[in-house]
Amino acid sequence: MSIRGFTSFFYLSSPNSRTFFFIHFHIRIYMSPPIRIGVGYDIHPLKQGRRCILGGVEIPSEVGPDGHSDADVLCHAIADAILGAAGLRDIGFYFPNTDPACKDMCSLDILRCAVAEVGKRGYALQNIDAVVIAERPKIAAHIAAMQASLAAALGIAPDCVGVKATTNEKLDDLGAGLGIAVHAVALIAKI
Ligand SMILES: [Zn+2]
Repeated sequence: MSIRGFTSFFYLSSPNSRTFFFIHFHIRIYMSPPIRIGVGYDIHPLKQGRRCILGGVEIPSEVGPDGHSDADVLCHAIADAILGAAGLRDIGFYFPNTDPACKDMCSLDILRCAVAEVGKRGYALQNIDAVVIAERPKIAAHIAAMQASLAAALGIAPDCVGVKATTNEKLDDLGAGLGIAVHAVALIAKI
């Protein structure tokens, strides 16, 4: 019997809608894959005088990512990877850049929200991996601090947080140092 058939059967045989939703939820959890992967991408322009916060760590720099929140492009890409792994909407859906409440918000809170959302669906984050593409500032010396900061927000061990840095080899706008981009993946597993 298909999952639709199961739910139709329980709907017809359940005494009330609360019972139906309880059973429906647990069937969905049972039928869903044991592990799932998600991908995230983000890019922000660099602006003179902005703080440069990556992975919750402030990096000394004359320029920083511009944006409505703290513009932590690393956190944003990771959050989208986590949400995507559970088939959820992107962070713009949960934290619109038109919402005054999101102005200058700490993006580590976005990560905590993403982990909580997948938790509600019966999954726990296992590990993430990310590549930061930036010509400036140089971030290699701050990667260990970023791993520790991200791990604390994500609720996983620092060795389950991959952060790598590369340049765009002087190509295009990223190569000209006009912005920072991040690619990230996340793995979640059924609790
Ligand atoms: Zn962003």
